[in-house]
Amino acid sequence: MLDLMKLNIEIPKQVVDINKLSLYQIEKLPNGNISIGALVKNSDLAYHPTIVKEYPVLSQALLAGASPQLRNMASVGGNLMQRTRCPYFYNTDFACNKRVPGSGCAAIDGYNRNNAILGTSDKCIATHPSDMCVAMAALGAIIHIKSLNGPRTMPFGEFHLLPGQTPHLEHNLKQGELITHVEIPAIPYATRSYYLKVRDRASYEFALASAAVILDIQNGRIQHAHVALGGVGTKPWRTILAEKVLTGAIANEQNYRTAAEAALSQAKGYGDNTFKIELAKRTLVRALTTAGGMS
Ligand code: SF4
Repeated sequence: MLDLMKLNIEIPKQVVDINKLSLYQIEKLPNGNISIGALVKNSDLAYHPTIVKEYPVLSQALLAGASPQLRNMASVGGNLMQRTRCPYFYNTDFACNKRVPGSGCAAIDGYNRNNAILGTSDKCIATHPSDMCVAMAALGAIIHIKSLNGPRTMPFGEFHLLPGQTPHLEHNLKQGELITHVEIPAIPYATRSYYLKVRDRASYEFALASAAVILDIQNGRIQHAHVALGGVGTKPWRTILAEKVLTGAIANEQNYRTAAEAALSQAKGYGDNTFKIELAKRTLVRALTTAGGMS
């Protein structure tokens, strides 16, 4: 929001400071799930002993994002609401359907190396930038929302919207609603999980491709698989196609590659970003191989 205000892209009439709300708790619920307050700082969540031990994929994804200074200030709720870094969205000299609905998309025929290859439309190919959200998509998090009408919950996969014909609509939060916390389900096998981020430089850089994987392997065979991709989708991209390939399969590189082919089977390149199709496959195979090799 601050970045966009500095560029006169967002000019809010009013900004409400919610920092005094008590939404800073990370706690284990009686059913074993973890509740994370919307104002918990990214670094506090990344280094929380339960997250490090039981959900390494979430800790790793958080630590792969932004810089230490930003992680010390960025909140879980803010990360969920993060907006694209498509350069044309930030430059008012160019057409952008997300910024000005109906004005066109400069990225489709422009420089689109960092743009998306999954979930795109003829109106927008902007990538969702978050790392944390990729891990939360894989974990199947639940978002808790409050408004004057009372509380409601939403599965993580329904929170962010595909661009379709309305790329200016990015999430399912309604006017007057507030994210209060995120609930992570108890997944005993999430100790075998891993987040891999491939990017142009090792720090303070968005993903070209990333993968969050969780594997439950018994006697060499995969019982459960959770797979999500980042840096390639218009929203955090959980890939059920890859999960179906992996579930019941022997944990080996050949099956990981088959799963990666399935995950990217509907990908579409736009020129500068077409290399991401193969890059994302390799990223996923490496993430699965690393998780599969964990004890
Ligand atoms: Fe705007 Fe989306 Fe096109 Fe980027 S990809 S210029 S955000 S409409």
